[in-house]
Amino acid sequence: MMAEAQEDKKANRKADAKPVSKKKDIYDVAQAQLDKAAKALGLDSEIHTILLQPKNELIINFPVRMDDNSYRLFKGYRVQHNNIMGPYKGGIRFHPEVHLNECKALASWMTWKCALMEIPFGGAKGGIKFDPSKHSRTEIERITRRFTHALGQNIGPNYDIPAPDMGTDSQIMVWMMDTFMNAGSQKDKNALRGVVTGKSITSGGSQGRDKATGQGLVHCIVEWARETNFSLDGSTFSVQGFGKVGSHAARILSRLGSTLVAVHDHTGAIASAEGLNPRRLAEYVQKNGGVKGYPGGHPIEKEQFFATECDIVIPAALENQITAETAPLLKCKLVVEGANGPTDLDGDEILASKGIDLLPDILANAGGVTVSYFEWLQNQRAEMWTLEEVDARLHTMMRRAYATVRHISQEKNVDNRTAAYMHALDRIQTVYRERGIFP
Ligand code: NAD
Repeated sequence: MMAEAQEDKKANRKADAKPVSKKKDIYDVAQAQLDKAAKALGLDSEIHTILLQPKNELIINFPVRMDDNSYRLFKGYRVQHNNIMGPYKGGIRFHPEVHLNECKALASWMTWKCALMEIPFGGAKGGIKFDPSKHSRTEIERITRRFTHALGQNIGPNYDIPAPDMGTDSQIMVWMMDTFMNAGSQKDKNALRGVVTGKSITSGGSQGRDKATGQGLVHCIVEWARETNFSLDGSTFSVQGFGKVGSHAARILSRLGSTLVAVHDHTGAIASAEGLNPRRLAEYVQKNGGVKGYPGGHPIEKEQFFATECDIVIPAALENQITAETAPLLKCKLVVEGANGPTDLDGDEILASKGIDLLPDILANAGGVTVSYFEWLQNQRAEMWTLEEVDARLHTMMRRAYATVRHISQEKNVDNRTAAYMHALDRIQTVYRERGIFP
């Protein structure tokens, strides 16, 4: 217990605003993206100033009992960026590198994503700074429940609605829901179901939520292929991160005739020119915790992963992956951002100079929050939609958002990321102008 407590102390000292790695501060990247789009749009300077900072930043240190009866202190975050368009909405991440500025960046991206998708939500993000792979399921349950209890009325179905992100899943959402419900009044219990999305279907989740982000990503790829006259049948792709987003995207894209040739995750990288079977690889990752050692491919270095020749690269892991170091290695036609913030500012410029198209995170991975919205609606109305209904609505919304971004990009002669921001900011600005700034 003492050694672990010392470790916690050291980690907590480092944990606040600064990222633990030497990589670029992700919040600087997010702010620079906003500045660029604000200039292109001519955003009012007052609104720009408001949007540069989140409304609320909550940091909670909370103790949890471990299986051996010792106690450890954990650090949790919830950042609520903006709620002018509707309740705050955004994932909860369990990862050892979660820090305040990461949550601030991720929360702001949620604001733009929901505004771009024309979903009546604002933006938030949170997480707990720890490595879930080093804890038992019972410890993870206690950590989740204690954090949810500590969040108290800072979340709620009409105020702030968390969802799964890196390191969290439908079971964790169900524990959050149950904890929140139990703290509410007996009479309101069922009305509180919508406090989180991404729940299991049996506990009030939606059909199609598990694959939604990957599915939305593939809808964008299909639109891009149509626009550029590119045949997906016979094409190749690589994926970084083979979790919820990466593995579903790979399975759905491979059904369209595209071959998965390389994968990189936190355990290593593998490749196969003949193709990796996404379904079998997902089963292997489920059992073994990562892609390392998968018998259907051979190991490669991280640099080789980025340098693997293929048509489409899907980063679906962490931020700051396509940078001044890695972007020059890429030999592809398209980068589709499954992860949030995988490409930094240098990465954007280098890809553009190499003629590589980019579909930005706030568009490409918006399928997740879109189906989360459907789940929230179903909870509010006590309805259960079929998978076909969910899929059809998601398809319509992804196609509309893709068309909007490409239209602005062409009309204003800006890159896709800036175009996506411009649509989001324009909608937010209209509401601020209508409502005014109180008092
Ligand atoms: P996940 O926990 O299911 O999977 C994460 C993957 O990233 C794993 O394969 C892991 O091995 C890999 N990874 C972790 N650290 C890494 C490292 N240092 N180098 C390489 N790979 C690493 O998480 P997820 O839900 O698939 O989320 C992945 C990304 O997609 C995140 O950026 C998340 O914010 C974003 N996203 C998720 C959703 C969603 O619905 N889950 C929606 C939109 C965006």
